[in-house]
Amino acid sequence: MQEPHVVILGGGFAGLGAMEKLKDAPVKITLIDQNNYHTFQPLLYQLATNELDANQVGFPIREMMHRQDNALFHQAKVMSVDLDNKVVHLDRMEPIPYDYLVVSMGAVVNFFGTKGAQEYAFPLYTMRDALLLKTHINRLLEAVDKNPALIDEGALNFCIVGGGPTGVETAGALSELLHAVAFKDYPNLPINEKAQIILFEAGPKLLKPFKSKLQKYAKKALEKLDVTVRLEEGVSEIDPTHITLSSGELVKTHTLVWAAGIQAHPLANSLGVEQVRGGRIPVEPDLSLNSRSEVFVVGDIALITDTKTNELLPQLGSVAQQAGRHVGENIERLVNGKQTEPFEYTDKGTMAAIGRGAAIVQMPGNGTMTGHAAWLAWLGVHLALLAGGEEKSSTIVDWGWNILTKKRGKRITLTDEDLEAVIATSEKRESEQENE
Ligand SMILES: Cc1cc2nc3c(=O)[nH]c(=O)nc-3n(C[C@H](O)[C@H](O)[C@H](O)COP(=O)(O)OP(=O)(O)OC[C@H]3O[C@@H](n4cnc5c(N)ncnc54)[C@H](O)[C@@H]3O)c2cc1C
Repeated sequence: MQEPHVVILGGGFAGLGAMEKLKDAPVKITLIDQNNYHTFQPLLYQLATNELDANQVGFPIREMMHRQDNALFHQAKVMSVDLDNKVVHLDRMEPIPYDYLVVSMGAVVNFFGTKGAQEYAFPLYTMRDALLLKTHINRLLEAVDKNPALIDEGALNFCIVGGGPTGVETAGALSELLHAVAFKDYPNLPINEKAQIILFEAGPKLLKPFKSKLQKYAKKALEKLDVTVRLEEGVSEIDPTHITLSSGELVKTHTLVWAAGIQAHPLANSLGVEQVRGGRIPVEPDLSLNSRSEVFVVGDIALITDTKTNELLPQLGSVAQQAGRHVGENIERLVNGKQTEPFEYTDKGTMAAIGRGAAIVQMPGNGTMTGHAAWLAWLGVHLALLAGGEEKSSTIVDWGWNILTKKRGKRITLTDEDLEAVIATSEKRESEQENE
């Protein structure tokens, strides 16, 4: 008898978690991702601020597959899923049938219709986003170096919208980039005197899900890093050289980092299933789709209710990874003729790092941590998320080295000519290959 075919859509924390748990199961697995690498999203802001390189934040999926004999990988874009006929449709590839399906394609940015955001904001949710922001910052500093008059036009004003963990962490990292590194790279520029980092949050507090004392600590820690925190102030329009706030005020800036929200991956809209809260798909306690026991939905695209607390689980790497692993176990149970089990999340704490040595941790129960101890806990949890596989070890080593030395060695940017040549050459080759 043929082994059941498990198709996993998305090689993020959830998809990889499911695949790894099925390592010894009597199944054939096909993992599909549009990229040939796994993106470690929690480190994207380190990439954007020159602390890490792209190959330390993205890990080649094919290399991870060396450890798994029952799985194959295809780099392909998922276009749609035919749930009735159990088939996945891909871009420029034959459709793939499945016996079990894991939908784990994550989330995408949500600009909430803000004018100019699509064109001029810098979101920070994908490798490409982080590389664009990094290149923009490096080129902007070079432009100011050539023409310091740009400072009066707001070129050294770095704005971030969204006071959640991504916005807070990015603001802290930008401050460290400017005040610990860039002022030395550009000794002729008044970076320490003139550069401004402004964090806008539409609500009355930063880091909404955290306890009040942690919110206050985070605000103080950011202010210590010279970040201006503006609460109850949203961004209503974005232009290349300024933003308009909800109050009508104009702020000169060439950089608006968008950290204000995500929505479920648009594939969710095409499945014809129930969607709530930013398009997420509610799942059963065993993480399967209501009325489709062979389809499991996990990670940021899913709306998972904690079976212990009855509360909705947040869109976090640790939730995605644990849920993905649970789905792997449930599929193995089904293949072996057993019943699936409900998912129980083990909360290791919610946390955010504000800068080197400053972080906040809300522990399960009522405990909290701040400062160095919290920062070490943050580091530990991220190292645990990173663990598994030699391909990730250089990230740990380089990251540790940067932390110890406060150095950022990843500031090389390609010139326009080089970038255009690389893109044009690969596009030409691809079209020639397609025409052959
Ligand atoms: C900047 C940032 C910082 C974060 N920091 C933390 C943190 O400190 N701690 C924490 O726990 N969580 C953090 N998170 C959240 C965490 O990264 C996510 O919750 C987690 O990545 C979700 O995992 P996932 O597997 O659902 O989705 P993802 O990791 O997003 O994976 C989805 C995969 O699907 C693929 N895909 C998408 N569309 C297609 C398509 N059409 N065809 C084929 N493949 C496709 C993508 O390429 C991707 O590989 C952070 C997120 C961001 C953006």
